[in-house]
Amino acid sequence: MLRARSLRGSRSWSRRSEVDAQVGVVGLGAAGSGALWRSAVRGAEVIGFEQYGSGHDRGSSHGLSRVFKSVTPQGPQESALAQRGARLWRELEAESGESVLHMTGGLSIGKPGSPLITGLEKVQAETGLELEYLDEADLRRRFPQHVVTDGDIAVIDPASGYLQPELAIRTQWNLARAHGARVVDAQVLEVVPREDSVLITTAERTYEVQTAIIAAGAWQRTLLPFLPMQLTPRRATLSWFAPKPGREALFTPEAFPAFTHEAVGETGWGLPEFDDHRVKIGLDFTEGYEITDPSANKREVEDWELARVRRFVAETLPDLDPTPIHSGGCMITMTPDEEFTIGIPAEHPRLVVLSACSGRGFKMSAAVGDVGAELALTGTSSADLSPFSPDRFAPVTTSTGAMR
Ligand SMILES: Cc1cc2nc3c(=O)[nH]c(=O)nc-3n(C[C@H](O)[C@H](O)[C@H](O)COP(=O)(O)OP(=O)(O)OC[C@H]3O[C@@H](n4cnc5c(N)ncnc54)[C@H](O)[C@@H]3O)c2cc1C
Repeated sequence: MLRARSLRGSRSWSRRSEVDAQVGVVGLGAAGSGALWRSAVRGAEVIGFEQYGSGHDRGSSHGLSRVFKSVTPQGPQESALAQRGARLWRELEAESGESVLHMTGGLSIGKPGSPLITGLEKVQAETGLELEYLDEADLRRRFPQHVVTDGDIAVIDPASGYLQPELAIRTQWNLARAHGARVVDAQVLEVVPREDSVLITTAERTYEVQTAIIAAGAWQRTLLPFLPMQLTPRRATLSWFAPKPGREALFTPEAFPAFTHEAVGETGWGLPEFDDHRVKIGLDFTEGYEITDPSANKREVEDWELARVRRFVAETLPDLDPTPIHSGGCMITMTPDEEFTIGIPAEHPRLVVLSACSGRGFKMSAAVGDVGAELALTGTSSADLSPFSPDRFAPVTTSTGAMR
């Protein structure tokens, strides 16, 4: 077990009667709803704050589906969070009767030596996870939906599929409430960490909690201006495409696993049709688009924004009509090293920061919330959080006292 951060001084983490709650969770999107649920399951008195309601379409967690993978090329710590996430999604389903995680297998297509393929090989070597490798001929035969170019190979992760984000968030709120959590429908205007508590202010009143978990997604930087974290919201889009007439059978969950494909100078990803939702295809964030106010990010998508994804579909998935049937705007939050930010900042031991996005954080968000609950209630986590420290962006004081 790793100690996430030793807490200075002797602090009691048991319930104090004069505060409003043991734990306050600011932002109840993916990570925050996980933290609310997992804090409540642990018996903590917890209040959550959300400005736009459950499963809204103004942050990073809407759009009907998210790719789930048990292995991510970024490294063993993220893969461990994804696997912990899978166990928690199943626990959520067992407790609620809802079905949020659907396994289709996962397909990663690229050239040998590419970042996607070498990342997966490295994680497999480090963890012993079971992956299946397909050569070019097998890939063409088993997955004719994808245009395969010379030398492409694929990796299949059988423990992959898709999640239903709005349903997952709503279910976590419901279970958290069943375990005694309170939800305040309000925008938090200010978070002030103090020696022994944190003040959380809405337009109505100020709440005092013993520890605050801040999981505000693209708004994180606005709420925590006193922390030197470098979190940049980027615009991304979601688009759905219909199969060409007669090609529908190629895109069912059984035939068309969740995929990532390095091709035509892009890394595209996609999900099969399910219920009455068409094939969803996306790329990473939109170039040349700065988000200064996350609340003002447009939900509509302009034609110029769709040019890249249309080209990707036309050139790599020829059985889909490359004109999307609908699209929407979304946001991802990036750090300079593209890693998550999860932990207790050294200068503010009563705060827990959860920012696990980089365009890939939904799959492990229940686990990120669980880790947040552990940190808030004990100051430690059972997860290896070493790559995710919120202090890795802190300015360094040199021997002459200068900051750099
Ligand atoms: C287009 C797109 C595709 C993606 N695809 C995948 C994928 O396939 N697989 C995957 O694993 N991940 C994927 N991701 C990433 C994943 O969805 C995100 O990592 C995850 O949803 C981030 O969750 P979050 O809790 O950090 O942010 P959010 O879910 O946005 O939650 C933050 C919440 O905080 C609230 N909030 C902020 N400020 C305040 C305030 N002052 N007061 C009260 N409430 C506040 C917001 O309203 C919001 O609800 C994708 C993201 C995008 C945009």
